Amino acid sequence: MGVPLLDLTLQYTQLKEESDALWFDVMSKAAYIGGSRVEQLEEEIAQYCGVNYCVACANGTDALFLILEALGIGRGDEVITTPWTFFATLECIVHVGATPVLVDIEPGTYNIDPALIEAHISGRTKAIMPVHIYGQCVDMDALNDIAQRHDLVIIEDACQAIGATYKGKRAGSLGRAAAFSFFPTKNLGGAGDGGCITTDDKELADRMRLVARHGEASKYLHTTFGVNSRLDALQAGLLSLRLAKLDEWNNQRREAAAYYRQHLAAITELELPVERDWGKMVYHLFVLKSARAPEIVAYLQQQGIGSALYYPKSLHEQDVLLKVPGFVRPSLPVAEDSASKTFALPCYPGITREQQDEVIAALGAFFAS
Ligand SMILES: *Cc1c(COP(=O)(O)O)cnc(C)c1O
Repeated sequence: MGVPLLDLTLQYTQLKEESDALWFDVMSKAAYIGGSRVEQLEEEIAQYCGVNYCVACANGTDALFLILEALGIGRGDEVITTPWTFFATLECIVHVGATPVLVDIEPGTYNIDPALIEAHISGRTKAIMPVHIYGQCVDMDALNDIAQRHDLVIIEDACQAIGATYKGKRAGSLGRAAAFSFFPTKNLGGAGDGGCITTDDKELADRMRLVARHGEASKYLHTTFGVNSRLDALQAGLLSLRLAKLDEWNNQRREAAAYYRQHLAAITELELPVERDWGKMVYHLFVLKSARAPEIVAYLQQQGIGSALYYPKSLHEQDVLLKVPGFVRPSLPVAEDSASKTFALPCYPGITREQQDEVIAALGAFFAS
């Protein structure tokens, strides 16, 4: 039968009438940019995440950039983050002129290891940027404790974690500011690119909005050099519709993950992802570890089952980083050991038990042969 790694059509068909009506309304009024739909989404996201402010922007990468820029982090500064993430996390640090300092991850969760952070703090360190990888929150109490003692800012890269919780609070409310992505494959995805920032800090929210709108303080009065980073009305409207479904969809991801756990536990060659008890993981991806990962992915693909390596390479091994002034390539044994050994299985809202059984049977056959 075949099972895709991700099936986005379900998100459309479940909201078909509302999505189509939205599309025709935006088209017929030709009001494409900004407007009440964007403001409404900002309010809804702020409320959902439990913060006072949300600033919509063009994508998750911009969201990270806008936070760093508005905080005044730049040349000569260092930002501590993880090598186990999408490249954008590091890219925005480099784009503001700062140097990323990469700290190893924990086995099992693949999140930054808080116990290793303090040894990397220098006089230049300004911020810690945790990434809630695969939709599981980093141990934020440990991070906040370090940040307080060293007077550092915490910036959450929550692009994979909308809806995830840590001790009763949602991702996006756990640091000074947080970046979200609405790229179609994310847990809350639009029909194109999109992103936003959440924060409780009004002054910071105003500054981020200013930078995202060409530094235009009032009509044709530019008080800083900014960028153009906006969310379309169509995306905002669609994201509002889908936000109402997000908890249901995230729960479906969690149920699918629990089913895999139950039925894959017997395969000792597979390391299941570790789920911490401090909150709700939203399984942006369900990632397993095995020394035979590349073979497994190829085998599953042959059987028509979508699977991919996440990630084939740890970012500290990307040679382009050697061009960054001040960057020192660290030795990160856990990240190095995870590269090319971790792979994702289909785990999305709407996946059926039959489809999951097919994946489980294929893995069983692989290890029996
Ligand atoms: C997707 C993602 C981003 C970038 O978001 P875009 O909307 O694609 O720019 C940044 N960080 C992480 C961890 C991501 O998964």
